Amino acid sequence: MPELPEVEVVRAGLERHVVGATITSVEVLHPRPVRRHLAGAADFAAVLAGRRVVAARRRGKYLWLPLDDPETGDALMAHLGMSGQLLVQPAESVAERHLRVRLALEGAAEGRELRFVDQRMFGGLSLSTGGAALPPEIAHIARDPIDPLFDDDEFVRRARRSSSGVKRLLLTQTLISGVGNIYADESLWRSRLHGERPGNRLAAAQLHELLGHVREVMNEALAQGGTSFDALYVNVNGESGYFDRSLHAYGREGDPCDRCATPMRRVAFMNRSSYFCPTCQPAPRVRR
Ligand SMILES: [Zn+2]
Repeated sequence: MPELPEVEVVRAGLERHVVGATITSVEVLHPRPVRRHLAGAADFAAVLAGRRVVAARRRGKYLWLPLDDPETGDALMAHLGMSGQLLVQPAESVAERHLRVRLALEGAAEGRELRFVDQRMFGGLSLSTGGAALPPEIAHIARDPIDPLFDDDEFVRRARRSSSGVKRLLLTQTLISGVGNIYADESLWRSRLHGERPGNRLAAAQLHELLGHVREVMNEALAQGGTSFDALYVNVNGESGYFDRSLHAYGREGDPCDRCATPMRRVAFMNRSSYFCPTCQPAPRVRR
């Protein structure tokens, strides 16, 4: 699943290759990715034709392209879901196996298409009316920790009022967005915190340190992702495996902890898994 750094790489790619282009026509090859457009696929295609892309923005893992006016216009929203990709391809290039929507471009991206490719189709595209500045559909989602306007103190205050486990807090999109399961585990390992430690039992300094590690992990992935994107040039590619090579926690069940050599453990967590070192990240004591 694309995590926030990959989505930011996609946003930067869209900014570079699609902003300034006009959408001339839209072809929906499968209705599921445009299911949120209730008027249907034909209407989706009709309302986008002739619109000019004027920016590429992101909140958490949601992307949007403001159309015609960056403040008051509509927006084309995209979510990559589990397996979605946005590609900028020459119009004549062979269709990808899981190509779902193609948008023909002219102007800044003459002769190219923006393509939404998605095998599993949990992601999709939709039109947000008047959503150029911030689509109302995602206004409840908090900023992410690499957003310059993210408020650390506010996050720490709210986390310390909650009895939820700190990993769950990291995955609460109304509190902090864009931190997926993999980066949550990695940040908690670096902070020596067990994910079940309740927010209201942590010191402010521990939470500030955790935020620092979240940013560190994301910036490392961004640095690597940026390189991948340049290598691909016109491929605005939402799929990757480039970030998993430097991970200390995720996917390492039974491997020795990189700090203390204790075998790493895996436990079930919200239909997923959590990976941690039982020595460096001791479970909270049960309060009686
Ligand atoms: Zn350890």
